[in-house]
Amino acid sequence: MDKPQHTLDDKPKENCGVIGIYSLSGANVIPMAIDALRALQHRGQEAWGLAIPNKPPLKRLGLVSAASSEFKSIAQEYSSPCVIGHVRYSTMGRSSLENAQPLKVKDLCVAHNGTIANVQELSNLVGGCSFTPQNASDTLVAAQRLVSLISENGQMGKALSVLKNEMVGSYCFTFISDDNSVFAARDPKGFRPMVLGHKESDDTYIVASESSAVSAVGAKMQRNVTPGELIRMSKDGIDTEMFSDDPKRAHCSFEFTYFAHPTSNMEGTNIYVARKNIGRYLAKKFPIKDADLVIPVPDSARPAALGYAQELGVSFDEGLLKDRYSKKGPLRSFIEPHQTDRVEINRWIIPIREIIDGKHVVVIDDSLVRGTSSKAIIKALRRAGARKISMVITYPPIKFPCYAGIDFPSQEELATFSNGKDLNDEETIDMVRKDIGADFLGYNDAENLAAAVGIPADSMCFTCASGNYDSLGITPEFKSREEIKGEAS
Ligand code: SF4
Repeated sequence: MDKPQHTLDDKPKENCGVIGIYSLSGANVIPMAIDALRALQHRGQEAWGLAIPNKPPLKRLGLVSAASSEFKSIAQEYSSPCVIGHVRYSTMGRSSLENAQPLKVKDLCVAHNGTIANVQELSNLVGGCSFTPQNASDTLVAAQRLVSLISENGQMGKALSVLKNEMVGSYCFTFISDDNSVFAARDPKGFRPMVLGHKESDDTYIVASESSAVSAVGAKMQRNVTPGELIRMSKDGIDTEMFSDDPKRAHCSFEFTYFAHPTSNMEGTNIYVARKNIGRYLAKKFPIKDADLVIPVPDSARPAALGYAQELGVSFDEGLLKDRYSKKGPLRSFIEPHQTDRVEINRWIIPIREIIDGKHVVVIDDSLVRGTSSKAIIKALRRAGARKISMVITYPPIKFPCYAGIDFPSQEELATFSNGKDLNDEETIDMVRKDIGADFLGYNDAENLAAAVGIPADSMCFTCASGNYDSLGITPEFKSREEIKGEAS
């Protein structure tokens, strides 16, 4: 059967963090929700929110901690034994409260981590009129369709089993209904992560994008939510059903190298251990024996750099530090919405001359997307006296846009973009190497990365490296960033 053609010109998209909590003992779970969202902050820093039954959702812009003076009053005003929550990282042009989540449709609130790639088609199924590319959310359209399917089918599970065939994309949802039930659903391929935990002391269940949130509330991780699974938590306890029996998996490989928190456990693997292992495997692939020093680009490449250095028997050190007191310092350059912000961030990565001067430095980074950061880092290292700079990237060359939740939407922005030149892999890598100014550039490959993580490569998504969109079931028509974001004048 031919693959359906989808027009991917109209999708607001997010890679975010979601939670859903239900206390069977009736404890007020709002303080727990705040702690859990703070533990997912690395997944989205532009807005956050939470929702309880029979009340409009609470939403705030910025970091969760920025509202710390309100925590006490929020915990009182929204006191509830059940809640869902969300931290948002938008790839739309505007970060507004209007687009923050959870969103409410009739008696259902929804929080979403992922991207619905065929949002216009789905919008047509709900009448189309509520949607405009500039301000609509794919989550809202999916929620509207879900609510109409629930009213037709009577049950969430049945509605999701229909919706999964209509909806193209990646999704982890948490829902809360006005009749005090919390639901969690993970897409059939498992693009985005989701785990289930339990806190014994007050008999409270928590689902979250990552186990870092489960640990943050003192709960124990029980298991990964199975792709295609729907979990329901209510006063009757917890029950579960499958809305899809698709055995094919496509876990986002980028979560393992960059996105997830190092303390999290995902698909049976601890992220820190996985990253260190990736470094070890990279040392076997690129044994740069005349290196004096291995340094990480802070922060997420640190375990890989350590693994690389240990495997090779070369010194590991911190040659680059972030200014922790700067406003931009703790942010991650890749997920800032505007290019000027990314350049700004690089001013706050400071090389230590005493460590770098006169050395052949192997710099380990977790990914090379636009090349902006790498270029600035290499310049800074040269200024600090580096004799030779080899850069080793823990992720394969990113050549294609992601339609499953990560923000590298247009090809011409990518460092690997050849602007019409017909380059083979080697030539592409050399073009990027010259562009960023490194003496050597080595990228990981999918097989090596998957082996280091301990998950079969064919159970992971590598679409942004391979251009094979089969796991999403689409043949995208690539658009410019402006077209995608509806920002063109
Ligand atoms: S395309 Fe890349 S970033 Fe997107 S889900 Fe797949 S592996 Fe992750």
